[in-house]
Amino acid sequence: MTNKSAFYISSLVIVPVLFVLFYAVRFVGRVYAVDQWLPKWDTLLILATMIVVERIYTYRYAVSQRSVLARDLIANVVNLYVTGAVTGMVVLPVLLFFPEHFLARKAILASAGQLGPVWLQVPVILLSVSLFRYWMHRWQHSIAFLWALHSYHHRVTDLQATNTYVSHPIDFALRNVIIFLVLGVIGFSPLAILIAVPATNISGIFSHCGGDVKGGLLNYLFVTPEVHRWHHSANVPEGYGHSCNYGVEFSFWDILFGTFYLPEKNGVAESPERIGYPGGQLPDESNYLKLLLVPLKLYGPVSWLTQALPMPKGLERQPSAK
Ligand SMILES: [Zn+2]
Ligand SMILES: [Zn+2]
Repeated sequence: MTNKSAFYISSLVIVPVLFVLFYAVRFVGRVYAVDQWLPKWDTLLILATMIVVERIYTYRYAVSQRSVLARDLIANVVNLYVTGAVTGMVVLPVLLFFPEHFLARKAILASAGQLGPVWLQVPVILLSVSLFRYWMHRWQHSIAFLWALHSYHHRVTDLQATNTYVSHPIDFALRNVIIFLVLGVIGFSPLAILIAVPATNISGIFSHCGGDVKGGLLNYLFVTPEVHRWHHSANVPEGYGHSCNYGVEFSFWDILFGTFYLPEKNGVAESPERIGYPGGQLPDESNYLKLLLVPLKLYGPVSWLTQALPMPKGLERQPSAK
């Protein structure tokens, strides 16, 4: 076997191997509560591994993200450590209030005790989480206000570990936080959540790996980097409307609802030539304050207030675009 074909095979094998490894790491980490020592350590480990994979399996259309690194770091910290907590504070009282005071209470609490054995709860969690996220993500492309928030995730010019969490916090919470709060309120077994949630999270995170890793048959089950890259293509495939491949973790919802797109040549998935804002009209936004405030129409007032203040890199005001 030549070195070249051995390398190619390794690019096919690395994806399932990493999925299994990350899954084991998450499971063990949760069981031993490692999060107490370094919150989100398992996610940080996945991101660090993705960066290494990007260096080994270099992608031929890779675009340097160095000029937006400060924005990326801020977005990562906010969505990893702040968005979930704030969303919980805002949404949990509402989620708890309605079942407490209205008709659904009895039904939900009654069902909580009768959600069935763990082996049944696991697929129920996997299917409901991924179906919710698929449709939320589709709406984030088709409903104008949601697109105003989500569009910043689509202005990145390449998929890389560093921009996995580049999203407006509200956009991020709608797709990635709320459904898990709902699961908690419904009262699934902690063991079922422990088994199911890593399976939904790992492929969602790893889908942003910028390395030239091959999904093979996994492309039809999981949202691999090969699948998610087409979701970010600057040229939306013809006939696909706003975009394709809306799944966050599993690609079978796209296959079922007719939004899956992955062209192949000789059994190998092809790549989009350019990643960026659909249609290509808008460049990436390097200013995190703009990403955060422009869609809420708050950038004008806040930038007026902060005019006199020196801002750290990544938050600085930029000359306004013409
Ligand atoms: Zn999207
Ligand atoms: Zn993405």
